[in-house]
Amino acid sequence: MNILVINAGSSSLKYQLMDPNTGDVTAKGLCERIGLDGRLTHKVPATDKKVEKDIPMPTHKEAIEAVMAILVDPVDGVIKTVDEIDAVGHRVLHGGVKFVESCLVDEACKQAIRDCIPLGPLHNPANLMGIEACEKAMPGKPQVAVFDTAFHMTMPPKAYRYAIPTKYYTEDHLRRYGFHGTSHRFVSKRCIELMDGNKDLKIVVCHLGNGSSLSAVKDGKCQDTSMGLSPLAGVPMGTRSGDIDACVAQYIMNKEGMSADDCLNMLNKKSGVLALSGVSSDFRDIETEANKGNEDCALALEKFAYEVKKYIGSYSAALGGLDCLVFTAGVGENSGTMRASICEGLEYLGVKIDAEKNNMRGEEAIISTPDSKVTVWVIPTNEELMIAQDTAEIVGKL
Ligand code: ADP
Repeated sequence: MNILVINAGSSSLKYQLMDPNTGDVTAKGLCERIGLDGRLTHKVPATDKKVEKDIPMPTHKEAIEAVMAILVDPVDGVIKTVDEIDAVGHRVLHGGVKFVESCLVDEACKQAIRDCIPLGPLHNPANLMGIEACEKAMPGKPQVAVFDTAFHMTMPPKAYRYAIPTKYYTEDHLRRYGFHGTSHRFVSKRCIELMDGNKDLKIVVCHLGNGSSLSAVKDGKCQDTSMGLSPLAGVPMGTRSGDIDACVAQYIMNKEGMSADDCLNMLNKKSGVLALSGVSSDFRDIETEANKGNEDCALALEKFAYEVKKYIGSYSAALGGLDCLVFTAGVGENSGTMRASICEGLEYLGVKIDAEKNNMRGEEAIISTPDSKVTVWVIPTNEELMIAQDTAEIVGKL
């Protein structure tokens, strides 16, 4: 089976053609600079082939056409005709309260994604453009929308309500939604499988990448998560501030004569470990400079580890204990130093890391000691596979 997984952003579009049963990726790539000029990077993992092409992409439609063309190209392609693609799965950022699971794309689904634009103003329009471009390029091909927010819809009101006047919840739907849900679902599901299918487990998932979020999972269901109405909330990230006193924003806006939009842009794009380190948003660069003695970089790493640790503590309290702690995404899967800093001092919770096992990178492994009360895992995430599996399952029922 071939599922085309699409992740459309405002000026970029990532794709993977994969088998949902094996997870094998036949081809993957990226369209960049959509609306400016257009550039396609296409890779075929089996042969290590990489093709880069400048192709005009005034809109997402031309980007999808370029993807279709290269997938069936006699030299660089991997399939003979578009008919070999069984279905398309789309990553969609915001599903509001409407989508608790993935759904087949039809007019009602598209309207619901459109209705969520005020909640996901940067991403949902791009996601819709990706869906509509596929409809034009492959008429009649089944498409499925997989929402970043869906996994978190099991949170109880005490976790998702904000303590602000109720009308903003009832009239405007302002509440905690949470993001990275496809990753949290994939990783917590895998953790349960690895723990002999024991669903009662109390799990804290740490998705630590360029964007970072944590979730508290019990009985396989999300109980709480660190991102909120938008992905700005929670722990500090590559360029996002994470949780912040609203008065900080008010102070800066007043001082600089800054609009709310500009201030939010600063908090989303110029803050986080980028701002604290003064060097980079990339954790590898920050670790390198910290090792050379740069104190700002050391503080950025210390702050990140501290805030993640605090969330682990609060989620353990919320869950009434902790059985498994799981690290995933770029930093979580690869940085043993960061994992060690986060776990340092959590012995009281029953977290005991094996320093040698913790040296591993990028593979599924237990990194706690055999006598650690909490089993600490590294589980590489695979959001594309989860999207492909959801798509295959929904399309299989048609
Ligand atoms: P995104 O949120 O863009 O999907 P990723 O999950 O790919 O992000 O994570 C990217 C982050 O992971 C970058 O900050 C990168 O520096 C970090 N990272 C990747 N490998 C390592 C490593 N070996 N050590 C520390 N950080 C790493």
